[in-house]
Amino acid sequence: MRVLFVTSEAVPYCKTGGLADVTGALFKEIKKLGINVLMVLPYYKRLIREKDIYNTGKRFEIRQNSSTYTCNLYSNYEKDTIFINIPSLFERDGIYGDSRGDYKDNDIRFSVFSRATLMASKTMGFQPDIIHMHDWHTALIPLYLKTIHREDAFFRNTATVLTIHNLGYQGLFPPEALKNIGVSPSFFNPEGIEFYGRINFLKAGIVFSDIITTVSNRYAEEITTSEYGFGLDGILRKRRDSLYGVINGIEYERWSPDRDPYIYAHYGANNLRGKALCKLNLLRSLKLNPYRKNTPVLAFIGRLASQKGIEIILNNIEKILNLGIILIILGKGDKHFEQMLKDKETMYPEKVFVNFDFNEFLAHRIYAGADMMLMPSRYEPCGLVQLISLRYGTVPVARCTGGLADTIEDYDAIKKTGTGFLFDDYNESAFIECIKRSITVFTIKNYWHKILRDGMSRDFSWTKSARRYIQIYQEAVKRKHEYKN
Ligand code: ADP
Repeated sequence: MRVLFVTSEAVPYCKTGGLADVTGALFKEIKKLGINVLMVLPYYKRLIREKDIYNTGKRFEIRQNSSTYTCNLYSNYEKDTIFINIPSLFERDGIYGDSRGDYKDNDIRFSVFSRATLMASKTMGFQPDIIHMHDWHTALIPLYLKTIHREDAFFRNTATVLTIHNLGYQGLFPPEALKNIGVSPSFFNPEGIEFYGRINFLKAGIVFSDIITTVSNRYAEEITTSEYGFGLDGILRKRRDSLYGVINGIEYERWSPDRDPYIYAHYGANNLRGKALCKLNLLRSLKLNPYRKNTPVLAFIGRLASQKGIEIILNNIEKILNLGIILIILGKGDKHFEQMLKDKETMYPEKVFVNFDFNEFLAHRIYAGADMMLMPSRYEPCGLVQLISLRYGTVPVARCTGGLADTIEDYDAIKKTGTGFLFDDYNESAFIECIKRSITVFTIKNYWHKILRDGMSRDFSWTKSARRYIQIYQEAVKRKHEYKN
């Protein structure tokens, strides 16, 4: 089976967030399982190191809206990834935007890239059984297969799979952009890519892909409801038979406390001493009072965005601190959240630490040194932070939604089972009660250590999920075949 794996970002080449972690790791795992998979990325010339890739000498042109884009194909030395070089669109400082916001021509950038991936697979002679697309940036591909490449024998047997990593980001553009993306006005209707008077890239993927997946079973259910569907729940309900949830994994080579090069001391489920040392070292290095080693350390790592429930932490910070805890926040995002958090740090310097960088090193040390990880997300398609936390014996205190609901087992105080603490409603009292519940158990060391050990021994490696994707590819091929006959 040949799979063309198309994404706007993937580790180790370029990353703005969890999407890159997931695509990079999943691609590797699928390849490991023996599938012939070719990844396609834009060549972000300022972000991808030139020494890692070479010019294949292959090129073609795309004409769109009276412009001509010359596309040069680069490859890595393993020859499993193609980078499409279109300098006028991708030779910039950012992936989607810069300090002034999103690039204004993202409609052109990602529609041309999507068309170019199809041309690239032809130019490379890689005839795909499956095209696997990720999020809105690549979601126009199945529409181009049905229009520009309709009569193209090369793609006659190609089935499409779209993975939605976050329904909150849909690629919305004004109707005037239709000409920019090379799509006929006949598709601009509610059955096509129109969404309340605007163009919606993700909707094109949902309507025209053979199979749609998202990153947890719970989120697959949630997005068919008006509460979580961001206006696309109706169309997702229509496609319910083709919608699957597959949970993300984490890369154990990168995330393992028994060999993590960034952390102060190594440890494992059967030897938690190193974790206590990591905690002390973290408190000391962040200039938080290191002598109160029995004080629970609560952390938050993630984008400072409303989705992550950062307001519920901010609005209740005094109440949380009054529970006798230390709070460590590592996050990048909305400037006004950053300012408010900075103010709290100034007010409570011994109890609050904030950092607004994207700092991988500090993230590892927090995962190892904290006791609990706060994740009061409004919605969470999968979430990697709780998976890493579980692996590092940092107990998630999280809202019961999406992937958090699927991967954290709520603590049962009677049976003494569970790997974290969950609350249902997004409100202050439910959140504070949940933190209190965790602190109560934290004070009873053998119960607490059991939670840690149970969480640490859960399997969140990629292998199982990658196998599930392969089954889904097979299903997509089968459906395509049945449809043709
Ligand atoms: P998202 O919705 O942002 O994709 P995830 O939980 O799926 O959230 O993934 C977030 C990933 O980014 C995790 O690997 C987390 O450790 C990392 N991360 C988030 N913010 C930071 C930061 N400021 N510094 C370092 N790593 C971060």
